[in-house]
Amino acid sequence: MICPFCRHDDSRVVDSRPVVDGTEIRRRRECPKCGQRFSTQEVALLNIIKRSGATEPFSREKVLVGVRKACQGRPVNEDDLVLLAQRVEETLRGTGQAEIEAQEVGMAILAPLRELDEVAYLRYASVYRNFASLEDFEGEIALLRALPSNATQATPASQVRTPDTSTKSPATLNQKTGK
Ligand SMILES: [Zn+2]
Repeated sequence: MICPFCRHDDSRVVDSRPVVDGTEIRRRRECPKCGQRFSTQEVALLNIIKRSGATEPFSREKVLVGVRKACQGRPVNEDDLVLLAQRVEETLRGTGQAEIEAQEVGMAILAPLRELDEVAYLRYASVYRNFASLEDFEGEIALLRALPSNATQATPASQVRTPDTSTKSPATLNQKTGK
């Protein structure tokens, strides 16, 4: 790390400590040339690639906003939503990737949302997966009936998809989370 005072191209770490909830590390550094001290912060990268190709840092708040909308009027409390957003982040970080398509964020939301509230799940899925007709809803509801939600806990989201998703373009799949 270059010294911000004298631009010397090396510095020495004199102290490291975790900050926030352990997801960030702050380091105190010292320049061996001018002796000035400065701090750096290390955060595990998790960037979302938007439909436009631009990237932005993952935001739990954005997950919350989308899910909260789907849960309006449903018996779901704010703590449930916060926990869901946390699970989504853990799932995404668990992939080990530094950059993730916005579409995958939507996918990661579907499974825990279904466990939380099936009506909210249907609302979210209808927008996110761009349901165009009653048949889309019927197909999804048939699937919900065939697979009780307690069975999905052990089933990856990728296996709970309806067959028709392959016919939809990534652009429409991205609609919900791609902005
Ligand atoms: Zn220096």
